[in-house]
Formats: sequence, C-alpha cells, structure tokens
Amino acid sequence: MSSFRILLVGGGLLCAISAIYVRNLQDGSAVFPTLRHFQPRDIRIRDAEGAIRRFAEGLQFKTVSRSNGSNETEGWDAFSGLHAHLTHSYPVVFSKLRLEKVSEWSLLFKWPGRDSSLKPVLCISHQDVVPATSESAWTQHPFSGARAGGYIWGRGAQDVKITIFAMLEAVTALLDQGFQPERTLYLAFGHDEEVGGGHGARAVADVLRKRGVQLAFVLDEGGPLLVDGLQPFIRDKAVALVGTAEKGYVSMDVSFRGKGGHSSLPPVDGTQAVTQLSRFLTDMHAHLPIARIVPPTLEFLQAVGAASSNPVISFVLARCASWPLKPLLALFLARQPGEVAAGVRTTVAVTGVTTHPAAGNVLPSLATAQLNFRYLPGEVGDFAERYLQNLLPRHADVEVKVHERHEMASAVTPVTGSAFAIVHQAVQETLAKDRVVATVPFLLTGGTDSKHYQDLCGGQTLRFMPVAMNRTAGDLKRIHGMDERVAEGAFLDAIRFYIRFFQLALGGDE
Ligand SMILES: [Zn+2]
Repeated sequence: MSSFRILLVGGGLLCAISAIYVRNLQDGSAVFPTLRHFQPRDIRIRDAEGAIRRFAEGLQFKTVSRSNGSNETEGWDAFSGLHAHLTHSYPVVFSKLRLEKVSEWSLLFKWPGRDSSLKPVLCISHQDVVPATSESAWTQHPFSGARAGGYIWGRGAQDVKITIFAMLEAVTALLDQGFQPERTLYLAFGHDEEVGGGHGARAVADVLRKRGVQLAFVLDEGGPLLVDGLQPFIRDKAVALVGTAEKGYVSMDVSFRGKGGHSSLPPVDGTQAVTQLSRFLTDMHAHLPIARIVPPTLEFLQAVGAASSNPVISFVLARCASWPLKPLLALFLARQPGEVAAGVRTTVAVTGVTTHPAAGNVLPSLATAQLNFRYLPGEVGDFAERYLQNLLPRHADVEVKVHERHEMASAVTPVTGSAFAIVHQAVQETLAKDRVVATVPFLLTGGTDSKHYQDLCGGQTLRFMPVAMNRTAGDLKRIHGMDERVAEGAFLDAIRFYIRFFQLALGGDE
C-alpha cells in the first residue's frame, strides 16, 4: 500500500471513530451524562423577602475560626446567637426534624424517611467563617448583613452560610407542602471547617459511625455556578462546577545540618546548611512531580470539550484520553496558571523556611524547609517520602519529618452514578431557567469537611454550591477576601435548587 493510501485509510478510520464518539456525546448516552437535558421548572418561593432577611441577619453573627486551631473567645456567643436565630427563623424544621448538638456547637439534623432500608443522604455546610481583615475598607461592614444594590453583603454570604440558610428554607418549604421523604436526610453544619473540622465534622462523623450509619452519598460545599462559563473554553454557557474528588494533604519538614560559626568566616565549599537547603529547593523546583491526567481531571476535560462551542477545543478534548494526546496535554496544562496546573500533578509548595540559630552574625547550623504536598487521587501513601529520597543528596546530613496530618486524596465519585445524575438534574431544572448550564465535574485542590465522612459513604461525595458567581467580575476573589456578597436572586435560586435536590434525592411525594 502506498503511503498516500495508508494516510487515506487512516484518516477515514479516524473520521469514522470520531463521528461515532461525537454522536455518543450528542446522544447524552452513558458516555457523557453531563449532557442530559431537563426542562427548567418553575419553583415559587413563598416568602422570598423573609428568606432574604433571615439569611442577611444570619451574617451578623461573628462566628469566626482562626487558623491557630481555636475559635476566638467571643466566638461562642456568636455561635449561640446564630443558633437562637436559626431556631427562631425555622420553627417548623426545629419541631419536625431531630436535632443533636455535637461538640456543643456543630448541628446535626435528621429527617427520618419512611423507608429505613434506603441509605440516608447527608448534606454538609459550616457555620464558621474566616476572619474579615481590613474591616473598614469593606463597602459594607463584613458583619452587617447589609442589603444594598441587589446584594446581601458579609462574611459567609458565599462561604458558606448561604447553603445553611438555603437548605433550611428548602426543608421548611417541603414540610409546608406536606412532603414526606422516603429516604432519610441528615444535615450537618460544622463549626470549625475553616480550621480543618477536627472538632466539628470529625465528631459528627464519629457519632454516625458509632450508630452504624451508612450513607448513600454526601453533598458538600465545592464549586459554584459560574455564570460566565470557563473562559476561554466555554464562553456561551454557564458552568456548574461539581467537585467529584479532592486532593490529599501531607506536610513535611526537611532539615539540613551544616557547620555553624561566625558570619565573618563563611565556608566557601558549599557546606553551609542554608546553601545545601537552597540547592535542594532549586533542584526540587526543576524536578516537580510528573504531570499526568487522572480521572477527575480527565472527566473535567471531556465535559469541557463536550460543552465547548469551539470546534477545535471540542475536537481535541474529546480525544484527551488517547495516546499521545493525554501526556502531551498533561505537559501543556502543567505550564498553565495555578489552578489548571494543580489539576494535573501532585503539587509541592514551600510554606516556610527557618534557620537555627538565627542571629545577624551567626552561620546557622540548621536550615529547614516546610513542604506541603497536595496529592492527586490515586497517589500512593509514601509518595512524598520516595520523591524526596530521589532528590536528597546521598551524603548530606539531612532529616525528613512527616507531620501528623496525613490525608490521601478522596475517592473519585463517578459521573455515571446516581448522585451525580441527581445533582445534574436539579441544576438543569432550577439554575438553567434563563441560561444554558453545562455540568462539569472537577478536582478540588483544597479540602472540605466531607473528608471526615469518606468511609461512611464509600467515597460517594459531590462538592457543589448552587450559588451563581461571575469569575470575570471578580466574585471568586471575594471568598476569604474583601466585600464578600451574593446577589439576592442567586440566594433564591439556591433555595430552589435544594427544594428540587431534596425531592429527587429523598423520593416521596412531590
Ligand atoms: Zn467553606
């Protein structure tokens, strides 16, 4: 066969394969469930004004967690104030659902379903917020719960008191309609998520574990509804970013020892502790963990390709699982800005460098770098140790200390499973009224409270907050930043989402 004919046959085959693939995508068949279509529903909120007011007042409680691991002292008054406000605002929920306070401040509600053979669903949020710095520079005071310009302002407006209030409004609406769930619902609102959830979510998970509760799946905070899509890949659709996995967390100290002495007589042979450490860090930066595309990011790319109107992007991403495109794409993505690059490799960050002794005229005999690894799903437990072993110089006097907190990445929740299907349907029916929305799975690079419940739900966890945000307009920077706020309409849509989500997830009468 001439090379021209081989090319022709090969090209024809490629076209046929891609035609089948694209048709599968367009069918919305099992290949890509994020394309299934559902008609938007008209869900009326009976007391929209009251709902907004209750939420805005909830932002006035200064339930701040500080990163030293303890809540600030005046915080407990704020938590009891918030609890009183919730009790007063949602009397039907507090009378019809069972409430337990865990570690005093975390709230665990149970709405028993009629069929106890069905595994319960757990929805998580958290009551605490990060501190608000530069309070006077905010447009509205961060704990005012002000309403201005169509927005509700304050710490927790986005992260994440909004989902507590939206869920409680939704449960109230369903109770008012006489809805009776088939499946049991748990709502768990932790009090220390911003500092790791060690006293809140972990203790709630212990309570459920002791009772032998096995969950169908968990819905936690996570990606928002990006109304401006994912530039430059998706421009003409909104994107519901649903986290199907989160990365792991491992920290280590690497310490080099060298000769100390007076700073007026520095050695010139490179044996100083600081010199050795700086050589190691430079070497580490030149040999970062290998970039590779693993399932959550693979599905992210496939979903983006399926949703993109750009034919080149669609064509390329539809084939992103194939060789040699997959490794080439991994290399390309690893060179992109932070969040894209972090999706394709186990990252390692230098979070601090210390020397000992520290004085202006002394050569330190000890130099230590604090490293923080964020593991990709599927990474093996001792990855960081083995990675460092390959980099550390053989004969150096060096010590590696692994920190106690050692979390592997979560399991990956399949986009073909029922949990994803339910969230996707609720998104399409409630958030796609005046826009086309693509549901896109992704890998969370940070951590959420849901990590504490992994064994209770067999890793079936989705991380999504049904809150409209515009990345181009800077909405994501407000989270943990200044001028946190949410549009009043976005809050009402979040309530609609949960109403529909609870109907779908819990079954029972509509
Ligand atoms: Zn949060």
